[in-house]
Amino acid sequence: MAAGNRKAVVSPCNVQNEVRLVVLGQTGVGKSAIVVRYLTRRFIGDYAPNLESVYNQSTKVDDQTVHLNILDTPGDFDVECQTRQEQMQKADGAILVFSVTDRSSFNHLNKLKTCVTRGAKKDVDKLPAILLGNKADLCHLRTITVSEGAEFAKELGCQYYEVSASDGSVEIVDAVHDLYREIYRAEKRAKVKKVSARLQLRQTIKNFTDRHLYRSRTNTL
Ligand code: GDP
Ligand code: MG
Repeated sequence: MAAGNRKAVVSPCNVQNEVRLVVLGQTGVGKSAIVVRYLTRRFIGDYAPNLESVYNQSTKVDDQTVHLNILDTPGDFDVECQTRQEQMQKADGAILVFSVTDRSSFNHLNKLKTCVTRGAKKDVDKLPAILLGNKADLCHLRTITVSEGAEFAKELGCQYYEVSASDGSVEIVDAVHDLYREIYRAEKRAKVKKVSARLQLRQTIKNFTDRHLYRSRTNTL
């Protein structure tokens, strides 16, 4: 279980309160089950593996209403494809999922790594993300340790959570809400960066103009 910063508060100026999330991971890791668990608090066992679904829902985070748009990607989601890259560029955050019972789904994350870095929106350093190790209820079948998951999340620069879509909603809801907060912090950082770049540019122009004025004055004396 990860420790997100629970103290941060989502502000009214948050991304016009609309958040686009994309859920990525190998087929069968439980992406659809996680999304449906988050939205309905229920576990539904079977989904068509190659179905792409978009869900819209409004929810409250830190007393703030957030309008969610969640893209549940199909198993054959190719991050290299142009259309997929465009989808990634529209995303405010990514939920990366693997199954703790399946090493190939963990290895598959290497292919998705660039989504968090290259798929980032303009003005944001990297795409805010969380890593979910799903099917934590299947202890006897576990092949990926908690520290392996945490280590990979560290590489991605995000938080790691162990969840079970079949067992409960609490961890999943906590993880997704931590992602909203991270998105908000990233937007805030980007705004600060933009303002300071503008101020710096203004100062450079002012310095240049002052120097130029001083020179032309001394020339006329
Ligand atoms: P997706 O292809 O990544 O969207 O995976 P699905 O959501 O379709 O789930 C694939 C299979 O894993 C289904 O049979 C689900 O019932 C099962 N599944 C999903 N999450 C869990 C979980 O947390 N625990 C267990 N035991 N099974 C799960
Ligand atoms: Mg699915």
